[in-house]
Amino acid sequence: MDTFFLEFRDPLFGVIIFFVLIFVITFFSYWFARLKKREDYRHLDKFLKQFHSLPSQNELKVLITKGELSEKSWLLLANSYTKGGNYEKSIEIYSELLKVGDKSNYRDTLFLLGKTYFKAGFLERAKQIFLEILKNNPRTPQALNYLLLVYEQMKDYGAALELLEPLSELSKDVTTISAYLNSLSILNSMSLTPDEKAYKLLEIYKSSNHLDYLIFEYIFRVNPKAAWENFDASKAELLVDLLWSCDKKDLDFDIIMQNGYLRELYTAKGYIQAATKSSVFELDVLINLESKANATLGFEYICDNCKVIYPFAFSRCSSCHTIESSRVELSLVRDYHKDFSEENNSFQ
Ligand SMILES: [Zn+2]
Repeated sequence: MDTFFLEFRDPLFGVIIFFVLIFVITFFSYWFARLKKREDYRHLDKFLKQFHSLPSQNELKVLITKGELSEKSWLLLANSYTKGGNYEKSIEIYSELLKVGDKSNYRDTLFLLGKTYFKAGFLERAKQIFLEILKNNPRTPQALNYLLLVYEQMKDYGAALELLEPLSELSKDVTTISAYLNSLSILNSMSLTPDEKAYKLLEIYKSSNHLDYLIFEYIFRVNPKAAWENFDASKAELLVDLLWSCDKKDLDFDIIMQNGYLRELYTAKGYIQAATKSSVFELDVLINLESKANATLGFEYICDNCKVIYPFAFSRCSSCHTIESSRVELSLVRDYHKDFSEENNSFQ
């Protein structure tokens, strides 16, 4: 029986203890390394999680009050939130800065808050902010300009027109904006008939010689005859998309035949045969195709001031707020309308 047990002094006992110790140490170091790895991963995960969600309003309040970051850093952060479209966060930062920030920057921060409210579509709040700035500093052109934009978006054209007087006193040319606001006021009037609107718009056009697109877009729609009678054919390129989509029955071919660009345009459209070529590439291709291919003109609208491209026509750029900065760009596109009518004919 004793042969199955080792003596304490037996050398084999020492060897076994040695291997047991190696096993225990290896086992513990393996588990320790595993535990450490898991701990590190959790720590990093927790650290990165902070950036998945934005700080809450209360967290922002504490961070701004602590004053660990300069006011300029907070303003830069708010600006980057605005650029990213997160208006809520930038509004929270500006509002908190107004409470605890430097009083010498109060008006600038208030203006930035008003601008952000305007961009976010909180027009009433933006209005109150700009009115507050103007109450203490009535000669602030930026606040006047933004208040005018707010009134324009609210369709309160009377209030917007009242701001032109202080703006003109600040040596700003208000001729175009005055014509623009008056035109919008007429277009949105509930009491005028379409013909009365067209007549009043033509009066504005004749006195200002501006806003061709805004005015003729409406008149070509409601009274094409009056549009052709008053339309300045030398500006046809500005209204090319309107002229292109005009119904054939509404066209005045006497006027068209007297203008080179209009002859090329309507030859390209296939309504007349009055041109063999054009200096405009897209029109030249369409004239030479002679309606043999399903191609038509496509239009894009570029703001000449800020170079933003829009798929639709505009009178005031929604990015830089400039009036009459739209330039139409032509392109050749597939004529889906023609495709559709051919498909329909094939089923008959
Ligand atoms: Zn622009």
